[in-house]
Amino acid sequence: MRHCCRFKPDDVYYLYDNDLFSSRKLSIGFCPICSKPVAELIQFRFDGEVYKESASGIRANDLMLSLQNQIWYSMREYNYSRFKSRPWGWVYGVNKLQKAKHKEYIKQYACDFYGNKELVKTSSL
Ligand SMILES: [Zn+2]
Repeated sequence: MRHCCRFKPDDVYYLYDNDLFSSRKLSIGFCPICSKPVAELIQFRFDGEVYKESASGIRANDLMLSLQNQIWYSMREYNYSRFKSRPWGWVYGVNKLQKAKHKEYIKQYACDFYGNKELVKTSSL
């Protein structure tokens, strides 16, 4: 994949085919020069045309989240067994509001695409 230079993806997600595209592959990684997250989607249209879309920084996260439901399996998941319970690979943040005894708390979780999550921080409002 490419950003400031060419580099190897950290992980590759294989996506389900849809009506228009097949052999859909989403590569993710961190640019070794500017350390921004980079996501690159490559897919083949039914007529053989190759479609590429890449995004970096916060837009890479958006691209990843928009394709989250279409992930079939990832290269890492395929290569290693799922023995970990802590989030790994591409981790994203989720904030949850919780009410207890007239107080409200925000619980911040780190989540991954394998269903693992970990509480990072609890802050009261
Ligand atoms: Zn870069």
